[in-house]
Amino acid sequence: MVIFFKPVFKETLWGGKKLSTTFGLDIPSEKTGECWGISAHPNGESTVLSGPYGGWSLSRLYESNRELFGHHPAETFPILVKLIDAQQDLSIQVHPDDARAKALGSFGKTECWYILDAENQTDMVIGHHASSREAFVRMVEDNAYEALVNRFKVHAGDFFYIPAGTLHAICAGTLLLEVQQSSDITYRFYDYDRLENGKKRPLHLEAAIEAVTIPDQTPLTEHDDRYFGFDIVTRHRDPVKADRYGDFLVVIEGEGLIDEHRVKKGDFLFISADSTYVIDGPLRYARITLRA
Ligand code: ZN
Repeated sequence: MVIFFKPVFKETLWGGKKLSTTFGLDIPSEKTGECWGISAHPNGESTVLSGPYGGWSLSRLYESNRELFGHHPAETFPILVKLIDAQQDLSIQVHPDDARAKALGSFGKTECWYILDAENQTDMVIGHHASSREAFVRMVEDNAYEALVNRFKVHAGDFFYIPAGTLHAICAGTLLLEVQQSSDITYRFYDYDRLENGKKRPLHLEAAIEAVTIPDQTPLTEHDDRYFGFDIVTRHRDPVKADRYGDFLVVIEGEGLIDEHRVKKGDFLFISADSTYVIDGPLRYARITLRA
């Protein structure tokens, strides 16, 4: 069974309009930062676009028709898939791991990014240079972020795996696909003293310093499939067997057919557990699978 999702958009201080200009998505404004395409998170749920479950939220589908998901054991749907358009820099931030997030009733937030587009000379921030917690705290107190963070250039096609606890900031000019654990907990270190509606957005220094990994590891460019599987696939014409918990697809290039369904760039869909589907492309898509 093939199920298409209707995404939820998030307008943000740092968002832009590329989700419309490059993906043809119907965005609410020219400050659209995020498109939550596959989400059962209460802060923004995708819904089933059509068919027998049309209008259902993903959480309702997951909770009441678990056979479609191969009877996956997680009580709540475990992942969240987004497109992100950073017209400006995102805050320098960190996310809690499973142990820290559990107290708040959430999964932790390990995430990974596949860079779809990066303007010339676009930066990425992943990790930091502090050798001890004392040194880290001193640099934060001194607002010495440029010396603290690990900054480098990023290019389309790059992949990064960001374990919970990794300091990071997506920078202006980046369009990316993010797959993460289903969580919406962010601790901000620094937001460039920007104003949103006349006010600075809140920082969470204490929690951020508590959650950050010190010393840091070098940025990871290999996927660790502990929380989810993630592949970029190019296919023209093939039958494919879905994973035991189903396949979640995000079409990132091209158009064609999946079984009898017309698909195009910007579509988010789910193929139920263990079914076989036929691709008639050319299509380039992300294939995301659940882990238990
Ligand atoms: Zn993040």
